[in-house]
Amino acid sequence: MSLKGKNALVTGGSRGIGRAISLRLASMGAHVFVNYVSNPYAAEETQKMITDAGGTADIVAFNVADAEDAQETIKQLIKDAGSLDILVNNAGITRDGLMARMKEEDWDAVLDTNLKGAFFCAKAATRAMMKKRWGRIVNISSVIGFAGNAGQINYASAKAGMQGLTKSMAREFATRNITVNAVAPGYIVTDMTNDLPEEIKEKIKAEIPLASLGRVEDVAGAVAYLVGDDGEYITGQTIHVNGGMYM
Ligand code: NDP
Repeated sequence: MSLKGKNALVTGGSRGIGRAISLRLASMGAHVFVNYVSNPYAAEETQKMITDAGGTADIVAFNVADAEDAQETIKQLIKDAGSLDILVNNAGITRDGLMARMKEEDWDAVLDTNLKGAFFCAKAATRAMMKKRWGRIVNISSVIGFAGNAGQINYASAKAGMQGLTKSMAREFATRNITVNAVAPGYIVTDMTNDLPEEIKEKIKAEIPLASLGRVEDVAGAVAYLVGDDGEYITGQTIHVNGGMYM
């Protein structure tokens, strides 16, 4: 399964799940654009990991939640690189809190980054994909978008919205040979989940049939499948990578 000659952009590709996806796509031969917004060191580390393993990568800084920044940067990237074949909308944040106490800015920040950001990036990327009549888009959703979660009403809404985005885009772009799918991870060990208190982690584990938190590589494998040859007849779908915690 080779992605040689393909350019891939992974938003939030500098850390966590995004880093694992960047490494995996690069190992399949893609030239990877590693995006970040605030921490250049993590992005440089990811780029080095890719080149050390024999792959190629560039770093591209922009804020997915800023329409102009995201779309202009992707436009320029396409101009410079000649094409953008694969987009993984992975950048995401949490701003947890119970609904009664949730501030409007926490709602907006999470919706803007996790949902609107994916829309902006996909809008810019599909221009190039439509011309080439080939494209693969994978949106990183979450089990929380399906099951809901107390204290994460903003995050759950954004991730549930991503399902509508995925299916509608899949329908709009199918005739141009652009597939659009989602991967919905359960609890994966990253900076996002590291901060959870031990007793909460133990509680979560108790609800997972496979009895452990997931690894970033588990999510990267699902993305690799969807963008590779084996996934070419799959569109508008969601692969759940959650150890069975939501079926
Ligand atoms: P991390 O917090 O480890 O990494 C987040 C990444 O997103 C970083 O690269 C960060 O860049 C980038 N990012 C954040 N905001 C923006 C922005 N506005 N513009 C561009 N980049 C941005 O997250 P995870 O790896 O844990 O999560 C990745 C995705 O997977 C998210 O969409 C998350 O919702 C989803 N997910 C995660 C789960 C988990 O258990 N970890 C479970 C289910 C879904 P920088 O470092 O520069 O800020």
